[in-house]
Amino acid sequence: VHPVYADLPTTIFEVMSGLARETGAINLGQGFPDEPGPEAVRRKAAEEAINGYNQYPPMRGLPELRRAVAAHYARFQGLDLDEAEVTVTSGATEALAAAFLSLVSPGDEVVLFQPLYDAYLPIVRRCGGIPKLARLEPPHFRITRETLDGVFTPKTRLVVLNNPVNPAATIFADEDLALLAEYCVAHDAIAVCDEVWEQIVFDGRLFKPLIAFPGMRERTVKIGSAGKMFALTGWKVGFLCAAPALTKGLAGAHQFLTFTTPPNLQAAVAWGLENSAEWFARMPGDLQRSRDRLAAGLTREGFKVLPAAGTYFLNVDLSASGVAEADRDFCLRAVKDHGVAAIPVSAFYEQDAPTSIVRLCFAKRDETLDAGIERLAAAR
Ligand code: PMP
Ligand code: GLN
Repeated sequence: VHPVYADLPTTIFEVMSGLARETGAINLGQGFPDEPGPEAVRRKAAEEAINGYNQYPPMRGLPELRRAVAAHYARFQGLDLDEAEVTVTSGATEALAAAFLSLVSPGDEVVLFQPLYDAYLPIVRRCGGIPKLARLEPPHFRITRETLDGVFTPKTRLVVLNNPVNPAATIFADEDLALLAEYCVAHDAIAVCDEVWEQIVFDGRLFKPLIAFPGMRERTVKIGSAGKMFALTGWKVGFLCAAPALTKGLAGAHQFLTFTTPPNLQAAVAWGLENSAEWFARMPGDLQRSRDRLAAGLTREGFKVLPAAGTYFLNVDLSASGVAEADRDFCLRAVKDHGVAAIPVSAFYEQDAPTSIVRLCFAKRDETLDAGIERLAAAR
């Protein structure tokens, strides 16, 4: 009997969304909006599916999308990517897998920060990578020399950085990124930057990608997601951006993971990136209002909410809210008995997980948020 690889558990997002579907609960767990996303972009996808090209597109992505991604990052982040440095993937999830498969060999050390998104560790381990886990502490989740000295060694091959951070909803300070860049250069390490939330930052903050820091242009793999940019999370169109020497390996892995990504969706995303100035100007403000509505409602009900500088997520500290229950127990009770799904933040830790933080998605209509607040209050 061949053993089944046992370290790939069902993700917490599927577990909680499954329970929400089963119970008919309001889903403030998995991060997805309940608005349908920009209509013009969806119409473009439909038009392309009917009248466009629907056979295998080029392996690295439609040229117009690769150009549009490079132009988008020039516009919003001042980057100078060439279209040849962009590879289109089936979501950021595939981009992450392609990055790990092409960059991690057995015995390589991989630095990761906790809390950590759940798609990283299983694939890093499957590639034979040795995780070196640093822990960032609330409320500011700063990267310090002390943190980095504890995990960087002469065997460090890769650093995985998520910014803005899911689930903490924080954005790293420029000086922390500069420090991380300094360590990457000193250790000749490559950075895999999961920046899928780059467009969703609040309170007038500007997002600065790690690839823009000194010494990082040639050693960074920047990952983005059209699903997040256009609030179309089911589309699974992602981007890998990296210097040519890295892109060669990334594209090599991508061709045996999915090879290509649906061409109508690629064409619609390309069109969207070129024609959505108004959407990009409005979306963060709309989400910020939703964040504030959820935060105010929960605060009114006696919950202690943590600051959220970006992403779709607001965290609640149960113990500071007077709820003496572990996050997982609270989330199971909330979905089963009170009709509201949330995500226990302990799922984002490998070791010494905090057990009193619960993550809520606020990318929802006002009435969904209001009903969620009421149900969470009943679960207190
Ligand atoms: N990384 C992070 C940090 C995410 O939050 C998500 C999805 N929410 C992904 C990757 C996956 O993105 P995609 O849906 O494009 O695969
Ligand atoms: N990234 C989304 C979240 O954090 C979910 C994506 C997924 O289901 N894998 O909720």
